[in-house]
Amino acid sequence: MKKVLLLKFGELFLKGKNKKDFERLLISNIKKKLSSFSFSFEQVVGRYIISNYDETEENAIIQNLTTVFGLIGVSKATEIETSKENIFQFVSTIEIEGSFRVNAKRADKNFPMTSVELERELGEVVLENNPNAKVDLNNPEHSVNVEVRFNNKTYIYYETIKCAGGLPLGSGGRALLLLSGGIDSPVAGYLMAKRGLKIEAVHFHSYPYTSDKAKDKVITLAKELTKFCDEIKLHIVSFTKIQEQIHMNCDSEYMITIMRRIMMRIAEKICQENELGAIITGESLGQVASQTMQSINVTNSVVSLPVFRPLIAFDKEDIVEISQKIGTFETSILPYEDCCTVFLPKFPVIKPTIKRAEYQEKFLDIELLVKEALASKEEIILKRD
Ligand code: ATP
Ligand code: MG
Repeated sequence: MKKVLLLKFGELFLKGKNKKDFERLLISNIKKKLSSFSFSFEQVVGRYIISNYDETEENAIIQNLTTVFGLIGVSKATEIETSKENIFQFVSTIEIEGSFRVNAKRADKNFPMTSVELERELGEVVLENNPNAKVDLNNPEHSVNVEVRFNNKTYIYYETIKCAGGLPLGSGGRALLLLSGGIDSPVAGYLMAKRGLKIEAVHFHSYPYTSDKAKDKVITLAKELTKFCDEIKLHIVSFTKIQEQIHMNCDSEYMITIMRRIMMRIAEKICQENELGAIITGESLGQVASQTMQSINVTNSVVSLPVFRPLIAFDKEDIVEISQKIGTFETSILPYEDCCTVFLPKFPVIKPTIKRAEYQEKFLDIELLVKEALASKEEIILKRD
């Protein structure tokens, strides 16, 4: 009899031929995440088992596992040798007050009882030994879960702690997140990482119009994302001269449109240099003037890489909820300015056109501005604690 952690994984089942690669990556991500702990790892059909760890570290290990994309749940379980006697003996020692049900899974079909038989008979054993327990199949206070697995072991547990879900980090390739200091972009990065993208980030700042604190805030946000996204390379680009030039030479109502188009061009160059296959933004349709369908079309038209906007259909409330859950909210609401709020026009255009944006850009030497901005780029590598 042994205390173990039973790990459940999600959509890997759907992946057919790729399944092996996905699993290999998931296991390597799990081991990497737990690299500061000592433990044994075992793969059985449909589950992973972690054992031989220091019990005082159990909660810390579980906390780390909840941030691994591709895992859906982790349970503290007892592992016993599979036999009818062992299972019934163990279940007879369980103490329960209130309503319960037994859930049985028989992966090993050589076991002589079906899941349904196991559930019924084990339920009776619990009832016999617990005068204050009663069965409730639909809405039980307690669940007794019994899994008979192929390795001749049976796992018994009561609760499953929810993990991050999604697909293993890195399984979908690598992409560049446009990371501002706001609430939305860290959430957008988290959601795409959850779909398997390993991310790098770029931040544009307008020092001295924006303070060093604004830059530090973004570094903190990127650091907070490493909890889920592992190491993040953050590219920091000065946008000051570009903004001054736009301010001096372009129509103020097109200021934000042109800024966005130049951000996209710089982002695409960073993608090319770092072999990143897509750009990610925190835009949400209709949230502000620069996020109307027409604005998005005009900014999108300067890049050829795909631009992922996972928040496009999200309400602000829902975005806030995720940012609280992943722990970036408190940092995001610190009051430092973003470069987009410097020289902000009173009436930004709501329905810009590509033609007018291109006309405005004739007053700028965009190629040179992009080149200079990239030349002064800083890179910071943020590592998970
Ligand atoms: P956020 O909360 O992410 O700042 P927002 O609602 O404030 O978003 P905007 O400021 O219009 O919206 O920005 C839209 C998107 O453009 C951001 O989600 C982000 O991806 C990108 N972006 C905006 N400003 C910057 C910046 N200074 N550096 C990098 N990306 C930026
Ligand atoms: Mg913003």
